[in-house]
Amino acid sequence: MRPNKRDHPGLKDILPKNISKIIHHPFMNITRHSYCPVCHQWPAEIWSEARDFEYFSSENEYVYFNCPGCGTIFTDPLPADQLNVIYPSNYYSYVPGSKGWVFMIKEWLDLRLFRKILKKIKGDSINILDAGGGTGWIMDVLKKTDKRIKLTQVVDIDEKAGDVAIEKGHAYFEGRIEDFESENRFDLILMLNLIEHVADPEELLRKVLTLLTPDGIVLLKTPQTRSLDARLFRNSYWGGLHCPRHWTIFSEESIRIVVERVGFKVDKLRYTQGGPFWAFSLIILLARKNWLNTSKARPVIFHPLFPILSAFFAAFDFLRSPFSRTSQIFISIKSK
Ligand SMILES: [Zn+2]
Repeated sequence: MRPNKRDHPGLKDILPKNISKIIHHPFMNITRHSYCPVCHQWPAEIWSEARDFEYFSSENEYVYFNCPGCGTIFTDPLPADQLNVIYPSNYYSYVPGSKGWVFMIKEWLDLRLFRKILKKIKGDSINILDAGGGTGWIMDVLKKTDKRIKLTQVVDIDEKAGDVAIEKGHAYFEGRIEDFESENRFDLILMLNLIEHVADPEELLRKVLTLLTPDGIVLLKTPQTRSLDARLFRNSYWGGLHCPRHWTIFSEESIRIVVERVGFKVDKLRYTQGGPFWAFSLIILLARKNWLNTSKARPVIFHPLFPILSAFFAAFDFLRSPFSRTSQIFISIKSK
């Protein structure tokens, strides 16, 4: 297992041992402190202390810090040695057909954006890579609308998805994108809700840069911390934490810092609906008040209220999106 990148070397030894007492202030909750993994500012303040209220994979408490400089929310230490615990066998992306109609509608809406981006790509032949793409169903749909698509590559850690993907004509690599090697270069790389799950977002982006054609586009989707739902649910549980599976949650400012540092430029950044985060936040708030039941056997995502609340708040976010920042972003980036 790789070392925990958040153990910043050096400074801890220089600072006096009772530093936490020195900086403790009744109005500033910084008795524990950490370094921002994006802008490296210190100290980041404790933003939330959370447990896995979604899957109840453990009893552990996870501390989420907020960087007052760039708005990144991150957990420290990373539970990188507990992956088989924190991704239980009933984790929704491992359960075929578990995504439900709301997810399907949402993903159909997202397809409009993917098609728009495909139109920006010039040339007669297009290679696409979907990192975390499961069975490759997004590329199935895209292939039907753009005949220029030649190679479709899925990279995913899901063992079960591979057979389906290969049967449908996709190339499949079972593993992390950081470990994927290919002779091919890709004109479009999709990384939807992936970067917030990894230990080292910059390593991920550097790898993706090597797989991209010179004019290629990478489309990222990731949660965004400076949103109304994050503020409202901070003291109970904000769904955007997906605790303890989201390790780095960016703001618009901090995702721009990271992609530019690695050698990308931002093509376009769009805010999009965060209906599922509202649904997680509300159901968990009600469950913690014992007004409804969630359990390890029936995680929040399988609660009957989940699709209804997700749909309602997706519409709410859509309506307010012209004048407010919602809790997810799409960002398309190109090589500098
Ligand atoms: Zn920062």
